[in-house]
Amino acid sequence: RPVVAIVGRPNVGKSTIFNRVIGDRLAIVEDKPGITRDRLYAPGEWSGKLFSIVDTGGIEIDGEDEIMKSVRMQAELAIEEADVIIFMVDAMAGLTHADDEVAHMLFRSRKPVVVAVNKVDNLRRTDEIYEFYSLGFGEPIAISGAHGTGIGDLLDAVVRKLPELEDIEYEDDVIRVALIGRPNVGKSSLVNAILGEDRVIVSHVAGTTRDAIDTPFEKDGQKYVLIDTAGMRKRGKVYETTEKYSVMRSLKAIERADVALILINGEEGIIEQDKHIAGYAHEAGKASVFVVNKWDAVEKDEKTMQNFEQHIRDHFLFMSYAPVVFLSAKTKSRLHKLLPVVDHVSEQHALRIQTHLLNDVVADAVAINPPPTDKGKRLRINYVTQVAVKPPTMVIFVNDPELMHFSYQRYLENKIRAAFDFEGTPVRIVTRRKS
Ligand code: GDP
Repeated sequence: RPVVAIVGRPNVGKSTIFNRVIGDRLAIVEDKPGITRDRLYAPGEWSGKLFSIVDTGGIEIDGEDEIMKSVRMQAELAIEEADVIIFMVDAMAGLTHADDEVAHMLFRSRKPVVVAVNKVDNLRRTDEIYEFYSLGFGEPIAISGAHGTGIGDLLDAVVRKLPELEDIEYEDDVIRVALIGRPNVGKSSLVNAILGEDRVIVSHVAGTTRDAIDTPFEKDGQKYVLIDTAGMRKRGKVYETTEKYSVMRSLKAIERADVALILINGEEGIIEQDKHIAGYAHEAGKASVFVVNKWDAVEKDEKTMQNFEQHIRDHFLFMSYAPVVFLSAKTKSRLHKLLPVVDHVSEQHALRIQTHLLNDVVADAVAINPPPTDKGKRLRINYVTQVAVKPPTMVIFVNDPELMHFSYQRYLENKIRAAFDFEGTPVRIVTRRKS
């Protein structure tokens, strides 16, 4: 997906807008100064166009110098990574020196920019936005994060500037595998290890997108392509090692993949950023495998692996479906376990269950544990059918979708999983009315 980044001074309301755009998908407005936000990016959609939206202002600091530094860094990140930039300014504060400086940077980059003038709480008072024409990016869009007004106009303007997606197409029988994880978890090392394995035949053509290097290879008759974001980073760019940079790059790799290998540093354990990346693979509906690398460097006894797996389960509650592989890219120990797991989860990701089998399982589940009543009304399930693969998506037709509670849906999902496997893949369940 193309990336839309929001830049602007602290307190112009970036996170409010960010949250408005993504709706109830994720994210919390975290307005304590100096605190890294919980979510920096999210999938967005407008007029049928998909994109990722990034709030580059993760850390907001007080003091003029610090503010300038942080805004400058945001702008550089956005210029580097975004396809369209929302430059947010504050109608109440008016044009500031920092705004001017950012405008210059953005202008020189020639990236498409949409100026959003926030805190215009009365949209008829458009005189408030005139001074922002001078930034040089055409018509500023008046919005109010507090009232939620103008957001549609803003998104219209953004979507108009989105590029057509670049992509390299692969045949359906190719498993597209993205290696994701923070810097230094060993992505490049793992790519080299996999490609150096016995019986791996690497095609000579490696495709290159703006954000990844694709390496097609074959092993035992199965075709794969490794989507490797680390190789690009190694070319050396300014902010290459910052968190957000690698996150954004990972997002694009995930979009293009069937299977996400979420690399975790076995020596260091799990940190917040790992969760962001994994969460995105989950939301994007991709198959996932946790790969705990550097296992050679970990002091172990017979319980270490089990404990580490539990540690992963505790941190990634919503991804209990994803298998865990422990290995060392460096010594190649246990490396042979990886591709069979990739094959398996990829198969599960594309699994299609016949309607009558699915209905048998759900009928049994309902018989064992009938839906609870809600204000005297009881959920009735009419029938279930799988409408899509990658990820498997089930539609449950019910008398009233409001009566389907999260916990009951979870129960049904678990029963379906128990009956059909679906290891490594999210399963989506949608309820529709039909009595
Ligand atoms: P990337 O940034 O994710 O691509 O990580 P690299 O592949 O560049 O690896 C980062 C560092 O970790 C390098 O110094 C590697 O030698 C080291 N490393 C990678 N895999 C392993 C491993 O399995 N075991 C150990 N001990 N070190 C590793």
